[in-house]
Amino acid sequence: MKFGTKAIHAGVEPDPTTGAIMTPIYQTSTYVQESPGKHKGYEYSRTHNPTRTALQNALAALENGKHGICYASGLAATDAVLKLFRPGDEIIATNDIYGGSYRIMKRIFEPFGLVFHFVNMTDINEVKSAISDKTKLIWMETPTNPLLRLIDIEQITAICREKGIQSVVDNTFASPYLQNPLDLGADIVMHSVTKYLGGHSDTVMGALMTNNDELAKQLAFIQNASGAVPGPQDCFLVLRGIKTLHIRMQRHCENAFKVAHWLETHPKVGKVYYPGLASHPGHDLARRQMRDFGGMLSFELKGDIYEDAVKTMERLNVFSLGESLGGVESLCTHPASMTHASIPKEEREKVGLKDTLIRLSVGIEDVEDLIEDLAQAIG
Ligand SMILES: *Cc1c(COP(=O)(O)O)cnc(C)c1O
Repeated sequence: MKFGTKAIHAGVEPDPTTGAIMTPIYQTSTYVQESPGKHKGYEYSRTHNPTRTALQNALAALENGKHGICYASGLAATDAVLKLFRPGDEIIATNDIYGGSYRIMKRIFEPFGLVFHFVNMTDINEVKSAISDKTKLIWMETPTNPLLRLIDIEQITAICREKGIQSVVDNTFASPYLQNPLDLGADIVMHSVTKYLGGHSDTVMGALMTNNDELAKQLAFIQNASGAVPGPQDCFLVLRGIKTLHIRMQRHCENAFKVAHWLETHPKVGKVYYPGLASHPGHDLARRQMRDFGGMLSFELKGDIYEDAVKTMERLNVFSLGESLGGVESLCTHPASMTHASIPKEEREKVGLKDTLIRLSVGIEDVEDLIEDLAQAIG
């Protein structure tokens, strides 16, 4: 089945009691049993809920995975992955990583004894030299946030297989429409469903997909035992959101491509970070690894003056200033003070994330209005 058909049909069956074409919101905590232990597969909603089951199956199908497991947020999904490991285990993660992922690794799991190494994963030698006999996991995120760097998933998962190391890809920025890490050898794909999968800035949720039965069992165990589950109303909203994922992504990509090219030729604009530009160092890899280049881009103004960047962000009207991304509406973010404030300034600067960087989540509005808005804001 092709992607658009899966986005609309996968995992969703007409409701068995009424034939309702849309999966109902099963707003219930418990299920009546006929006699002790004799039930219809549902006992308690932390463990299973029919609305969540439908969504988990749909999400698994979109990533070409056998199993989908949903969590209360993207970070709750990350938390579940990290709970697979034990004190002394080493984890290698990309150094240009979502701020909250860095925070949960350094501030929650490092004190429990996990050891993290943050490396530049665009350089395969840096990855190789960080591997020891205690390395248990390699955590990738590509394209990276906010610098849109490209990591070669196939190259890294090949090393992981050779050394018996597990691999995870945070696929939030690309969405399953653009890239399917399980097909490229990853053991687990992680999503902040909050972003493109939900797509309407109305839900916070996370998900993990895998083809590995044993991993799926452990992750479902953590889902139930730790209890960070999404509610049925949120599952319904995401089920609705993913029906248009392919159409939304097409427009996100089209608009971002045009905005990136327009910015690149603007006399006041310095560097533009977008994998679809021939000037992007990961452009060739993006062409191989992704089906299109996505809706996210970042840029700097010439002169690198902090006040200029702030004024530009304040003057934007169609782009709203805020955290998050992947919704139908365009958003503008200042990574240094918002999404990446939890990474120390020296660490940010080491990876090239300047305080003057502006990140755009290009929405699906008419692109002429987006460019006009940027033109008046940059001045
Ligand atoms: C937002 C985001 C997360 C965290 O997800 P939440 O749903 O906010 O918990 C993780 N990774 C990336 C790349 C993100 O953009």
